[in-house]
Amino acid sequence: MKIVVNWERCEANAVCVRAAPEVFRVDDDDRLHLLVDDVPSELRPKVEKAVRACPRGALSLEEP
Ligand code: SF4
Repeated sequence: MKIVVNWERCEANAVCVRAAPEVFRVDDDDRLHLLVDDVPSELRPKVEKAVRACPRGALSLEEP
């Protein structure tokens, strides 16, 4: 499973970081980074929570 970020929508408010810090990081320049390319199954619940929590609707999931 891969995470797709709509970079036009993301405002780097780090809501997703709080939901899944293993996967998302916002740097000092307020830029979002994905820390994993392929989401391992054990992190899937956290990532799904982050997708639901994003107030900008900027995250979606892509199955291979
Ligand atoms: S929660 Fe959404 S808007 Fe906020 S940093 Fe994450 S992807 Fe961007």
